[in-house]
Parts: sequence; structure tokens; C-alpha cells
Amino acid sequence: MRVNTLKRAAVAFALALPGAAIATVVAAPAAHADGCYTWNRNLYQGRSGSDVRQLQIRIAGWAGYRDIVENDGIFGPKTAAAVRRFQQAYGLRADGVAGPQTYGKLYELQDNDCTPRHFSFTELDDGCGRSGWSGGPRPAAETRENALRNMWKLEALRRSLGDKPLNISSGFRSETCNNRVGGASDSQHLYGNAADVTSRNSSLCQVARAARNHGFSGIYGPGYPDHDDHVHVDSRRENNRDNSSNTTSWSAPDCGVR
Ligand code: ZN
Repeated sequence: MRVNTLKRAAVAFALALPGAAIATVVAAPAAHADGCYTWNRNLYQGRSGSDVRQLQIRIAGWAGYRDIVENDGIFGPKTAAAVRRFQQAYGLRADGVAGPQTYGKLYELQDNDCTPRHFSFTELDDGCGRSGWSGGPRPAAETRENALRNMWKLEALRRSLGDKPLNISSGFRSETCNNRVGGASDSQHLYGNAADVTSRNSSLCQVARAARNHGFSGIYGPGYPDHDDHVHVDSRRENNRDNSSNTTSWSAPDCGVR
């Protein structure tokens, strides 16, 4: 058969190559098939589509001070600036264009379930033990998606603090859980949109201050009632269906964060 002949020919060719040449052939990059998501074109200002949305989820943590990157599938100036900051943070050429280098870094950072390398759904679904993302005011799938977006911001925050572990002491909370722990009745934890963070490597004030540059619109830390042992970060501005809290709200008076 033709295929077998070709295969045999390829084997014979490989055997005929000197060792160094074989190593070169093996190391050549294959077309990337990522376990989570694969981009198929370069993205830059002016482009739009679901691939832009996928990119926005992953670079939303590089929004810049007091800003957010909308997850709208439109590659505008804010998305370009966030891509540039992402590229800078990982030592890539900072041109604001998402191409092979940027995708390569994102593939390296993401797990097969699309969470960033250093955070997991298990970790974020733990307000009072795991609840499978149900029991909140929104459907489980939406709640889980919120948590995913928040995790990419946490990955950016972690990177900015020297890539040392950040621990999550409370993530998603069902209504029952939120009542049990005395959370606010409109807590962003109910939406999977919040994380309480602690760190052994950075002070809580360092965490609270840095969070301002990574897309978090809700930040509460030292000096704010009941927040002296963790920093609460959330994405309330993206939680558009809850109009009451759709603004930036920061308070960590002991850290000068407001
Ligand atoms: Zn909290």
C-alpha cells in the first residue's frame, strides 16, 4: 500500500540521519492542539469574535489600574493594552497583538479544564465545602464561569506578586453557606465572583494594593470590618445583572486602598 511505502521510506530516512539532525527534527514544534482551547488566527485591535472573548477571559487580569477588560468579544484599545501588559509580564515582545508567542504562553498557563495553572475549580468552589456551584442566585454554569474569569485575574495578581502561592480561604458560597458564615446578603461570593485571599509571601496590604491593577472592582482588606485576616477580591463590575453592586468598591483603610 502507498501509505505503508511512505511510512517505510520515512523510517529509512530517519535512520539515515546523524543523531544531531534527528534531535532537531524531534524538537520542531507541532501544530498546537491544546486541551482547553486553541486559537487559529492572530488577534489585534479591530477584530471580534468568540476567539477574542476567549482571549479576554485570560488577559482580564492585566486591565490596568481601576479598570476592567469587558468580556464582549470586541478587541478594542483596552484589550490591546491588557495584551501588552500580559506580554510584558511574561517577557514576550509587547506589541498588543495576540499571536503564536502569546498563545504559547497561554497554553502553557492553562490546564485542560481552562483554569489557569495555579488555581482550580475545586479550590474556588469552597465556601463551606464543595457544592458543585449550585445553591446560589444564578445557574451553576454561570456561577462556574464567573469563577473561571476570577481565577485568571488571580493568576495575574499572583504573577505580579512574584509568582508565589496565593491561598483561597473562601470562594463560591451557596445561599445556605453564605448565611452560615454571616456573609453580606448581596455578597459576590454567591455568584462565584469573589475570592478571599491569604498569602505567606506577601503582606495583606501588598495583596490589596496590587489587586487594584488586576481587574478587581471589589477589594476589601485590613482596616475594613472583618477583613484583617484576608483580602476579599471580586469582579462586581462584570456581574452586570446585579445592578446594585455594579460599581468599583474598594476599602482597605490600613493599606491606603480606597
Ligand atoms: Zn469575601
